[in-house]
Order: sequence, then C-alpha cells, then structure tokens
Amino acid sequence: MSATYGARVAIAESDRFGGTCVNVGCIPKKLLSYAAHLREDFEVAEAYGWNAGAPSFDWPRLLANKDREIERLNGLYERALTGAGVEIIRGRAVVKGANEVEVNGRTCTARHILVATGAWPRLPQIPGAELAITSNEAFHLQKLPSRALVVGGGYIAVEFASIFNGVGVPTTLAYRGGRLLRGFDAEIGERLGEEMARKGVDVRLNVDPVRLVKLGAQIEVLFRDDSVQNYGLVMFATGRRPVTRDLGLEAAGVKLSADGAVVVDKYSRSTVDSIYAIGDVTNRINLTPVATAEAMWLARTLFRNSPTPVDHANVPTAVFANPNLASVGLSEEAARKAHGAIDVYKTSFRALKLTLTEKSERTFMKLVVERASQRVVGAHMIGPDAGEVIQGVAIAVKLGATKADFDATLGIHPTAAEEFVTLREKAP
Ligand code: NDP
Repeated sequence: MSATYGARVAIAESDRFGGTCVNVGCIPKKLLSYAAHLREDFEVAEAYGWNAGAPSFDWPRLLANKDREIERLNGLYERALTGAGVEIIRGRAVVKGANEVEVNGRTCTARHILVATGAWPRLPQIPGAELAITSNEAFHLQKLPSRALVVGGGYIAVEFASIFNGVGVPTTLAYRGGRLLRGFDAEIGERLGEEMARKGVDVRLNVDPVRLVKLGAQIEVLFRDDSVQNYGLVMFATGRRPVTRDLGLEAAGVKLSADGAVVVDKYSRSTVDSIYAIGDVTNRINLTPVATAEAMWLARTLFRNSPTPVDHANVPTAVFANPNLASVGLSEEAARKAHGAIDVYKTSFRALKLTLTEKSERTFMKLVVERASQRVVGAHMIGPDAGEVIQGVAIAVKLGATKADFDATLGIHPTAAEEFVTLREKAP
C-alpha cells in the first residue's frame, strides 16, 4: 500500500510470505476446520435420504491439498509485492539504529522502519514441555495420533481440539480456568465447552499439566489434580509471544512492554520517531484484519499526508471451533461494567437443518443493549456459520444501531440469522 502511494519500499522476510495467517494460522486452520466439520455432514446427509456408505478419512491427502493452496498464496503475496514495486530482501533483519537495518550483512537506510514480525507460540515452563508441539507443527503432522491432548482455553486450543476430534482423534482439552475463552461473553464460553463435550471432546476444566514424560511412542501427562493419562500427541496452545528478541529494537531505543511487545501510540509509532510497529508484535488485538487495517492506517498517515489513528472499537471476531462462534462489541459482563443498566435478549434453538436428524446441537444468540440509549453494544452467536452472520451484524453495531433498528429490519426466512431481528423478550 505504501508503495502504491509512491513510497520507495523494501521488505525483509526470512520465511514464506503471508505471515502467520497464511502459513500457520487462519487459512490452513480454516481448511482443516472444514475437514473436521464435514464428518457431521455425512451423518446429516443420511437423514436427508443420502446413502454414502461409511466415510473414511485421509489426513495426508488433506495436508497435501492444503500445502498446495498455501504455496499458491505465498506466490500471490510475493507477486503483489513485486507488482507494487517493492524490493524483496531475503533474510532476517536487525535494526541497527533509528534509520538503519541490516539484512544478511547488507545495511539499508530508511526514513521509516516498520516492524511487523508477528508472534510465536509460547510454551509453559514445565518439565517435558519440549515433548509437546504447538500449532506451528500441528499443520504438518505426518500422521494423526491415537489420542491427543490440547492444552489451553483460547482461540487456538478450542479450534485445534475441534479439528482433532472432528477428524476422528480421541481428544482431551485441558484448561486451567473454569470457562473457555476468557474475555468472551461468559455464557458463550460456558456453552462452547458444553457443545464441544457433546460432540465428543473430553473437556477438562480447572486442570493443567505439570509434567510430561516420554514413554515409548506415547507421552505420559501428569495433571495438577494428580491424574495421569497417556497421549500420542500433546499440543500447547497457551498463548503467543511477540517476536522482538534479537531484532535490535531495544538497543535502538524502542521501548518494549513486559511481554516483549513493541509499545506504540495510536498512530502505531514506537518510542523512536522513525520506527513503527503493527500487528501481533504490538499485542493489541491479535487478528489478521486488525493488522491489515493498522497497515492501511499507517500507510495513509505516512504517505498520504492524512494522519489516521487506529480504530480498535467494535472489532468482530470468530472462533472456528465446532460449533463456530462469533462476537462483536461488548460481552454482557463488560457492558454492565461500562454502561450500568443494560438489556439482554437471547435465544437458543435447534437449527432447522438438524430437525430431521438426531442431533441435539443448539444455536445460541445474544444481543446486549445499553438501556439508556437503546444502542446494541454487543452481539454474540454460537452456531453454524456464526462468523458469516456476525459480520453483517457488525456493520449495524459499528453504525450505532438501536434495538428498534434491529426490530425494524425484516428477517430472511427461514434462516438462523433472522433471530437477531426477531428477539422480543428481555432476559430476566
Ligand atoms: P489466547 O491468548 O487466546 O489463549 C491462550 C490460552 O492459554 C488461554 O486460555 C490461557 O489461559 C492459556 N494459558 C496461558 N499460559 C498458560 C500456562 N502457562 N499454562 C496453561 N495455560 C496457559 O492465545 P492463543 O495462543 O489461543 O491465540 C493467540 C491469539 O491469536 C489469539 O488471542 C487471537 O488473538 C489470535 N487467533 C485468532 C484466531 C481467529 O481469529 N479465529 C484463531 C487463532 C488465534 P488464561 O485465559 O487462564 O490466561
């Protein structure tokens, strides 16, 4: 974007183009997630008259197809850069000063330096932690384990526990807290745990591994409650750390926070005037569209003469667990804290598609409304395609729509999404 605005730009990259999202994040994860969800479609299809026989699953074929697609995307990203006139420098960069970067022994000078190095999985400091994998390796497993343990209760943990379970691996999800997805609406976290358990994940709350030991091809895990279990695979999804080590930032005067993130102002500027940072390395909201938007705002600030601060309000987000969930705005708890009096509207139902089946999965939706202004300040959903539904609702929330605006919108019948405009009863 900066090059398109006329800036002379070079980019240093030591790995494949596209970052976490394209290589070991959103895109391959969603492909694996599709595979995991499809298993249930075979069951549903039977109730709709299809006889498909017993399905079997080929993990190496899925990975090969996924890798081919990621390679295609790597190429697209590289061509987008060269097409915009960006010089590509292969190698790991080190900042040498306010206007100097060294890559592979070559020193480059620049008026502006942008750090967008992302984040990297963090392992807990327990004996045997090195026996476990992280999401980075989960994308390249040679074969599926006999039994998997996923540790953590955040995005990556619930998504991968759902993937392993969906493709047929007996899976345990162990989380140290009492409810999954801390920071999300409490009811959403609770219900997700229940739905995942109903789909076969062994969801264990308030428990944490304290030691891992190799036992032949298995890993023996000792948990804090003294229980012991063997797994073919242990995956830690216990958070990520901004990639700032050995980048020369502190020596150049850039302040880092305690967790290693680059400290930036609302224009993504670090404590050194010529050095900026965006994306996960700043540990603000670690989502791809947020990083992309931060990049657009910064390019406008620097090269369009149009200072544009970041706007982190009402960022919608989805978690591609099974079932999916998505959310925009405030949780019920956060809204109560921010606005005092609120109204809550919610519904839980069995989706029409499931009525011909034995499946008991429930779709859940919730609107959080500030009582005084009647503005909808939060919308939350668990259910099929929650992200697709909440993306549309997010426009209304971003525009400050009131509950009356939602009510005045007609539904599309029969859909699940229409429930968002037909919620009439306030929750007690
Ligand atoms: P999260 O911060 O979401 O979750 C980390 C989890 O690990 C939390 O449940 C945390 O528990 C737990 N944890 C942290 N330290 C320990 C420890 N020492 N022992 C045991 N458990 C621990 O991180 P993720 O790694 O899941 O994902 C990183 C970020 O990437 C996400 O926050 C999100 O921003 C982004 N992402 C987005 C996706 C999407 O948009 N669909 C998908 C995947 C990632 P506690 O809550 O108790 O601290």
